[in-house]
Amino acid sequence: MKRIAIIGGGIAGLSAAFEFERLRQGGSSIEYVLYESSSRLGGVLRTDYIDGCVVEAGPDSFVSEKPWAADLARDLGLGDQLIGSNDADRKTYILTRGRLVEMPDGLMFMVPTKILPTGLSPLFSWKTKMRMAQELFHPPRAVDHDESVAQFVERHYGAEMVDRLADPLLSGVYGGEAANLSVRAVLPRFADMERKHGSLGRAMLEARKKMRSNSGKPAPPLFTSLKNGMQHLAESVRARLTPSWLRTNAPVEAIQPDSNGWSISTGIHSDHFDGVIVALPARAAANVLRMASSELSAELAGIDYSSSITVCLGYGRDVRETLPPGFGFLVPRSEGRRLLAATFVHNKFPHRAPDDRALLRCFFSGANAEDAWSLSEKQIIGIVRNELQQIVGLRAEPLFARVYQWKSAMAQYGVGHLERLERIERLRQNLPGLALAGNGYRGIGVPDCVRTGREGAKTLANA
Ligand SMILES: Cc1cc2nc3c(=O)[nH]c(=O)nc-3n(C[C@H](O)[C@H](O)[C@H](O)COP(=O)(O)OP(=O)(O)OC[C@H]3O[C@@H](n4cnc5c(N)ncnc54)[C@H](O)[C@@H]3O)c2cc1C
Repeated sequence: MKRIAIIGGGIAGLSAAFEFERLRQGGSSIEYVLYESSSRLGGVLRTDYIDGCVVEAGPDSFVSEKPWAADLARDLGLGDQLIGSNDADRKTYILTRGRLVEMPDGLMFMVPTKILPTGLSPLFSWKTKMRMAQELFHPPRAVDHDESVAQFVERHYGAEMVDRLADPLLSGVYGGEAANLSVRAVLPRFADMERKHGSLGRAMLEARKKMRSNSGKPAPPLFTSLKNGMQHLAESVRARLTPSWLRTNAPVEAIQPDSNGWSISTGIHSDHFDGVIVALPARAAANVLRMASSELSAELAGIDYSSSITVCLGYGRDVRETLPPGFGFLVPRSEGRRLLAATFVHNKFPHRAPDDRALLRCFFSGANAEDAWSLSEKQIIGIVRNELQQIVGLRAEPLFARVYQWKSAMAQYGVGHLERLERIERLRQNLPGLALAGNGYRGIGVPDCVRTGREGAKTLANA
């Protein structure tokens, strides 16, 4: 019988446990024990049900392009629970000099693929529009070193594009700043396009042409989620696992290789296993692995994390009727606000709010979240309401308001991240029976966390 420990009960650790359970039910001789420091499983996947609304405290959906989270849902029999974002209403605004300006049609991340809407958009100055035209002649460039997303975007489209689009779009995903994030780790597709084609605009136009001629099928929705919220995914995994092997309120203090496997210590207790999956944020992984390898621990500790706060507000029909259509808005840092983004959930996922409710999900992260960290919930709600009043003229008293604070939960893939991952992989290979999973490595989103958990489980089961 092979015994494996899983450290961390977020979606990465749960996905690993699900994979072991499948192998076990298929006849493999495997036992797993999952250690979770808090009293609940799911990590940042948390959903509350308030006043008929599905309120997401952490992630609200995942990109449909990455299949692993939807595959897990289907493997759990939740295929009929998967919902797509309401892309017919997909409009996103950028706060520009205090006014909401719609993102022009045809922008693929920050790359314009339709001349007219971008050319007429008040989002960009004439100088940036000229840069967009010149960008089509950008020569291929074999860069042998990593650089920040801000440097990369600025080389192609200028500083205004970093401020108005690249930075706000990335802060919604990583909670970080374009000036600190690695282009190779965060936008590998764009780095690749530059190497092969030079111009991102030309590369994107060619890719679109190919997509159109290859498929007559309608495009899938941009985002996928679950009808009853993201926590449903975590709960459905938990329901499939062997209850006596799930240890909540069990923070792991240290893991160390011993004579023929691994010793896992929770302080008073320790237990022996043949292998271990560390499915923790990289910083927490660094702590538990300190005694196993100080070098590995130092590399893991070098992966930065940022904190974030989500504030969900529910309103009545009158507010719903006055808010702009579309998915919501992003706020460039240069606008000097605390808020970085707000989603109009009732438009993006209409099933999540009754017809007579408006549901807003507001987000701040990084320095903006740190500044607000020690404030009371009432004060945080006050800041959000004040900014919503200034941005969309929303004065009404919310029917409900919830604040969720996530300390150091979003990984920041800094410049040189991929090189660090290579060093981590070399050090890990010196520790047989150890796998790493979670959001610190090759993808921060839910699909990549699911993938790393399941892949780690398969690797250890076959070792
Ligand atoms: C506010 C927010 C919004 C997001 N929005 C999206 C989104 O819309 N779409 C998307 O795809 N992704 C989103 N993400 C990212 C994504 O949700 C996370 O990266 C992913 O869920 C992380 O899963 P995980 O299992 O790796 O880590 P976590 O969920 O952080 O789980 C780690 C678990 O380990 C436990 N733990 C910590 N230390 C120990 C220890 N010593 N011993 C035992 N257990 C320990 C923790 O309690 C926790 O339960 C968002 C993240 C946040 C914070």
